Amino acid sequence: MRSREWRSFPPQLRAGLLSRLADLILRDADDLATIEAIDAGILFRDSKTLHIPQAVETLRFFATLTDTAGRSLDIPGGFAYTRREPFGVCAAIVAWNAPLMITIWKLAPAIATGNVLIIKTSELAPLYGQKLAQLVLEAGFPPGVIAILPGLGQVAGKALAEHSLVRKISFTGSRLTGRSILKAAAATNLKKVTLELGGKSPSIVFDDADIDNAVFWTELGSTANNGQVCALGSRIYVQDSIYDGFVKAFQQRAAVTKPTYGDPLSSKTTKGPIINRTQYEKILHYIKKGKEEGGKLLLGGSALDSGIFVENTVFTDVTEDMTVVREEIFGPVATITKFSSEDEVVSKANASEYGLNAAVFTKDISRARRVSDALEVGTVTVNCWGILNANTPFGGVKQSGFGRDMGLEALNEWTTVKTVKHLLLNPVKI
Ligand code: NAD
Repeated sequence: MRSREWRSFPPQLRAGLLSRLADLILRDADDLATIEAIDAGILFRDSKTLHIPQAVETLRFFATLTDTAGRSLDIPGGFAYTRREPFGVCAAIVAWNAPLMITIWKLAPAIATGNVLIIKTSELAPLYGQKLAQLVLEAGFPPGVIAILPGLGQVAGKALAEHSLVRKISFTGSRLTGRSILKAAAATNLKKVTLELGGKSPSIVFDDADIDNAVFWTELGSTANNGQVCALGSRIYVQDSIYDGFVKAFQQRAAVTKPTYGDPLSSKTTKGPIINRTQYEKILHYIKKGKEEGGKLLLGGSALDSGIFVENTVFTDVTEDMTVVREEIFGPVATITKFSSEDEVVSKANASEYGLNAAVFTKDISRARRVSDALEVGTVTVNCWGILNANTPFGGVKQSGFGRDMGLEALNEWTTVKTVKHLLLNPVKI
């Protein structure tokens, strides 16, 4: 089906297809989780109980939003209305760390709003794309509405970024690639680009926080998915009066959650391998750098003798100029730093070129509000970390990118506005 026909496809039928796809993904959750475990090293249980349900929720949310309404406006002598219209042929280029979920963040709103979509899967984890393609067919999407394109970034991804008939690209991946996509769009047809890039997110623990709760979330937030999470809370800031107690409690928690390394398909495994050897070596390089620059190892710091497994690693005694505090590592490496005042920690948290998200731990609602307002990020979570909901927008500011996945805001990312004006009065004849 051509994009012109799909945009006129009845919204109720588009909704039905998205809901059907959600049902099929849920039906085949075991297969999809197995594929993600084998292909990307994601724990089977994380894929099945976290990523896949989130993808299903997102499909169901956007299935209720296929009827994209505009606004009705008064103008002198008549009226006007706006329509939200699809771009036509769009592309999604995605990362490997939660491949199905990230793909659905783009597929659901793109298709709901009447676009046709080419999905470029990551060469590091492409297999889920084959399964998704089967489910898309089974759900009954007309041919040509959703295309899955496996391929190398430098070849298939670049071709999409440069293609003059692609009107919009939604990208999730690294800052470097995001920049090259933006350049390609500028040099070709000025396609609309949205970028979901990396992060170096702060988790801030104030002295009135519930310590057990803060330890739970900061530990999870710095180790989840082997640290291969864009929103990883990799910079933990703790107020000085509770610092020693927090660090002790963090160590105790780490002893309780001590990983069982191994096959991500096994229910006994709590920590799988890093995605590939290149990323594994990059993480180890950062750990080495952290030691050389004077960071003190509180936890971890080593790789296992066999396989490509890296210990959950935490540095203390770091300064803000150290590489491990500044750069995105995309592995299970975090820092814990002491702070004294609210102003100081806000300024440290904001002293990053990234701005994806932040977590704030406090029982003081006024402080939570004040600090949330002051943080230069796309999402703030208070007394928790990393919660994803289909109805809440997700995305960054600064060099974490622009545009939003999920939430009603995503509808605007996948549509453009047309204004139609009617004059009701006849022109005055002289
Ligand atoms: P990457 O940039 O290497 O690859 C992402 C995608 O871009 C892949 O599909 C790849 O094939 C493609 N690509 C590579 N070169 C290209 C080019 N020249 N033109 C077009 N496409 C190209 O990133 P990655 O290693 O897959 O993912 C890790 C990064 O993604 C991290 O920085 C992480 O923070 C970020 N990320 C962000 C989010 C978010 O929602 N903000 C979510 C997950 C990951």
